[in-house]
Amino acid sequence: MEKSNVQERLDRVRAELAIFYEIGNAMRSTLNLEEILFIILTGVTSHAGLGFNRAVLFLVNEQENTLEGKMGLGPHSGEEAGLIWTRISSQQMSLEDLIAAYTFYKKGGSDLDKAVRSIKVPLHEDAGVLAMTVLEGMGMEVTTDEARQKTANDPVLQSLRTELFVTVPLKAKDKVVGVILADNLFTKKPILKDDIRTLTMFANHAGLAIENSRLYEQTVYEANTDTLTRLWNHGYFQFLLTEELKKAYESKAPLSMVMFDIDNFKNYNDAMGHQMGDQILREVARVLKTVCDGKGFVARYGGEEFAVILPNQDKDPAYAIAENLRMAIENFEFKGQEVQPNKNLTISAGLSTYPEDAPDKEKLIYLADMALYEAKRTGKNKVCAYRSK
Ligand code: GH3
Ligand code: MG
Ligand code: MG
Repeated sequence: MEKSNVQERLDRVRAELAIFYEIGNAMRSTLNLEEILFIILTGVTSHAGLGFNRAVLFLVNEQENTLEGKMGLGPHSGEEAGLIWTRISSQQMSLEDLIAAYTFYKKGGSDLDKAVRSIKVPLHEDAGVLAMTVLEGMGMEVTTDEARQKTANDPVLQSLRTELFVTVPLKAKDKVVGVILADNLFTKKPILKDDIRTLTMFANHAGLAIENSRLYEQTVYEANTDTLTRLWNHGYFQFLLTEELKKAYESKAPLSMVMFDIDNFKNYNDAMGHQMGDQILREVARVLKTVCDGKGFVARYGGEEFAVILPNQDKDPAYAIAENLRMAIENFEFKGQEVQPNKNLTISAGLSTYPEDAPDKEKLIYLADMALYEAKRTGKNKVCAYRSK
């Protein structure tokens, strides 16, 4: 090799190491999956990083055996690209600055990002280049017009408007967790062997970081979930209520909470056995969650008690929601419910509202409990709202 050539290679390796070092640090600074993905794609697209025009990332959904679009980074048009790159080079933004831009990015992704997030393909051999990259665990290079002819009919590539590109699998130990596709749609800069080599090395780091973050998120989810009902558990309910009250305080919004307790549940257990009782708890949880339908958070507060947090709901609308939940349980035909009084399995509820009734979490829970006792005392199968008078 000539001296200048050696120097060139050295420079390149030095630059690669610097990128890996910086991105490695960034990836270790968070376990949040979205942030990790953003850091990875920033690494692939920024001038200070690998310098591709655009990069999109897909992750494997093992349950559904599909590949799902998660994030796309890069300008949507040549014009926008020019603007962004002029700004970046004039401000001399470092990789760290770009990664810090995540909060800004979060406020509204680009059109490319939106397009990517709506893509979902089955993991079959005939589902195109991205699926093949995952199934074979090998990158694909479509860097010549001749190669391009073969992929011209791939609908995913069409929707991304990509022409010449490279894909790399994201590997974590022995499994493939996703794929990155990168291209130079705007500059038309040829994709070189060296670019592909660097991208491949980078993808191996990225795959591990993604897997770690997913494992972490799974563990956190499990730790906050009740194993019997799959609802949020008591600890997470307390955390959620604290957080939601903070938001309510900051935005001067109301918040209601409802405490539910199954009526005469001891009677059901005594007659039907605890395993059937457990089945009732699962069923009640499912009904509450379905009927609540994103209006609030449903948690298992304790044994046969359920708590529902209703952000932004004043007393009257919250009462209507609680009544809907109560009625849904009343109308659901639970197995063996003939053993219950009135031959029906029912639930009672107490409701309290912030800031009308209570200024803080403890008082709010206490008052919902008081209202629940009132519902029990005055006949069960009803919702009582806390009243100060
Ligand atoms: P009330 O209408 O006053 O609420 O009457 P109740 O019989 O439901 O009384 P209470 O709420 O005090 O009873 C709680 C019963 O719930 C006692 C226990 O047998 C049952 N229980 C609590 N946790 C579980 C559980 O995890 N599984 C089952 N099967 N039963 C449970
Ligand atoms: Mg109880
Ligand atoms: Mg009860």
